[in-house]
Amino acid sequence: MRYISTRGQAPALNFEDVLLAGLASDGGLYVPENLPRFTQEEIASWADLPYHELAFRVMRPFVAGSIADADFKKILEETYGVFAHQAVAPLRQLDSNEWVLELFHGPTLAFKDFALQLLGRLLDHVLAKRNERVVIMGATSGDTGSAAIEGCKACENVDIFIMHPHNRVSEVQRRQMTTILGENIHNIAIEGNFDDCQEMVKASFADQGFLKGTRLVAVNSINWARIMAQIVYYFHAALQLGGPARSVAFSVPTGNFGDIFAGYLARNMGLPINQLIVATNRNDILHRFMSGNRYDKDTLHPTLSPSMDIMVSSNFERLLFDLHGRNGAEVARLMDGFKATGQLAVADERWSEARRLFDSLAVDDAQTCATIAEVYAQCGEILDPHTAIGVRAARECRRSLSLPMVTLGTAHPVKFPDAVEQAGISKPLELPAHLADLFQREERCTVLANDLAQVQQFVAAHGNRGKPL
Ligand SMILES: *Cc1c(COP(=O)(O)O)cnc(C)c1O
Repeated sequence: MRYISTRGQAPALNFEDVLLAGLASDGGLYVPENLPRFTQEEIASWADLPYHELAFRVMRPFVAGSIADADFKKILEETYGVFAHQAVAPLRQLDSNEWVLELFHGPTLAFKDFALQLLGRLLDHVLAKRNERVVIMGATSGDTGSAAIEGCKACENVDIFIMHPHNRVSEVQRRQMTTILGENIHNIAIEGNFDDCQEMVKASFADQGFLKGTRLVAVNSINWARIMAQIVYYFHAALQLGGPARSVAFSVPTGNFGDIFAGYLARNMGLPINQLIVATNRNDILHRFMSGNRYDKDTLHPTLSPSMDIMVSSNFERLLFDLHGRNGAEVARLMDGFKATGQLAVADERWSEARRLFDSLAVDDAQTCATIAEVYAQCGEILDPHTAIGVRAARECRRSLSLPMVTLGTAHPVKFPDAVEQAGISKPLELPAHLADLFQREERCTVLANDLAQVQQFVAAHGNRGKPL
């Protein structure tokens, strides 16, 4: 499989190089040159496969030519073997024909484990083959950091530096990062906010001189491998609910358009999906686009669903590319305009196409809490605030009561106790067994000033399993 840039000017790459690439050299994002398409018979024949074998069938075309079948199978078996539930991604029923797909049984209790557990193993495999080492630098407001560290902790060839805003992530989220100890794991608390952390990552990607020739790899969802891994659970859910003979609807809590884009790809690969709902919190740039053709940058509003607090959606460009007939020059023009003005609108017929593909809803904190309370009263299930946003959108935007509606359950509620408490639920939430002693574990973390030079110096001094590069 070859991958091309959404801006049309960067060289096409194979899977191995895309895995290591981050942004394309023209500023675009990589997408597959041709999407594989499966027949209904083929999809139906996967109905009884365990998760890792289904993952192999769905993802195999994307890695073809870079990763041998036997290696890929082994990697997938290991990846999904670490999940705490036998079904890996079980469905929980809320109401008749209404379900939550629980994607939070991985090591860090959020759906990002599906992609980052795989990414770490793929990186190590490819790097061992090439006899190379890489450095990962990432910024996190919570979930990405812990999932990336858990995914990379066993990697021989990767050093990982995760920056979080000092004193501005929840204690559970901080401890999930800082208690994973290893000479290749480096937590940095920055005396600044999340955007400061993000800016330092961006600046480091733009000028990698401080790394003395070591390559920097991205772990946010601009990395194609993350999107790829997320396609699988749409197939998994649909097969559990009578697909592909029966069509299924999905409601997806999203910020960076990563998870929902994976659903869009699953549909394009032949999975019958009758509705895809974009569910956002008050940071609703995606909903403003879908409902009014206004993709305009707004200020950031902190919410009870912090993992969706974004101003712009990094994967939206991948959709723009398809909406414009995969014309890279057109996308480059739109994105240049957006960079200059903070605003973007598309031609009417392109927007109509987007509206045909997606429904959308923005859900504020009050509605989020009301939904958590409503579902708890109805069936005793406690939702995390991100998942609650998805359920609210599912209930309001649903087109067919006779088809299954699946909301992606993106996190375990124990990670977001504030929202659960504000919803008026006093039942104590318990950490799952593998995290039960989280509050007793030793933490390791370095506090640094909000200063790029100091951060880069720190990376250069520790980027080779704690030793200088
Ligand atoms: C990251 C995250 C999201 C949003 O994912 P996107 O890739 O932006 O679609 C939603 N919920 C939780 C709990 C997350 O950690």
